[in-house]
Amino acid sequence: MNNLKNLRFVCTRCGNCCTDKDTIVNLTYIDILRIKNGLKLDLKEVLNLLGFYIYEKKITNEDTKRMVITPIETEKGLAFVALRKNSLGGCYFYNSIKKKCLIYKLRPMFCRTFPFSFRLLDEKNKENRKKIEIIYTEKGKQYCPGISDEAPLINYEKWIIFGEKTLEELERNYKVIEEWNDMVKKGKIISTVKKFLLTIFKLDDS
Ligand code: SF4
Ligand code: SF4
Repeated sequence: MNNLKNLRFVCTRCGNCCTDKDTIVNLTYIDILRIKNGLKLDLKEVLNLLGFYIYEKKITNEDTKRMVITPIETEKGLAFVALRKNSLGGCYFYNSIKKKCLIYKLRPMFCRTFPFSFRLLDEKNKENRKKIEIIYTEKGKQYCPGISDEAPLINYEKWIIFGEKTLEELERNYKVIEEWNDMVKKGKIISTVKKFLLTIFKLDDS
């Protein structure tokens, strides 16, 4: 097990993670389906709230391993699928007057797990499942005031269960994106964003 059982955090609701210009709120296909269904959106409306942020470099296997969410092949090239930004560079769903998230119950995994990320370890636990390491994200360390020596220790067991669920969701997402990118590379489908969305709408298991 890691030596980070002394992780401390309490959200101060400062809004930094929702308003940072350099933060992209990456989405899994499960996030997209949850928001689509929760807000009862059609294709056009879903397209309207998404941002496709182009990844300029050629992607290597090493890059893919490091990335929490892999970019998808689109008509404009490889792109990270994320929530669109508002005119101030913050999240499209952040209400800066009320200082709150407008889709709190439907918010993406990125927002639910912030400022933590999870990693599977080689060791196994009593139930013979792989142990999980919880770490602060770089962005969290950079601008989240909820991480502080004064904050309470996190409920470690609760976060481990959450971490397992998160890693499972990321794995499912990875497989869907990998399959999509593979089909594009083999010329089996036309790589439009619209087509990608229609494909994941068929996997409606959120
Ligand atoms: S940056 Fe940290 S403290 Fe501020 S709203 Fe986000 S999670 Fe909460
Ligand atoms: S979806 Fe909500 S919680 Fe997530 S960044 Fe946007 S406003 Fe913040």
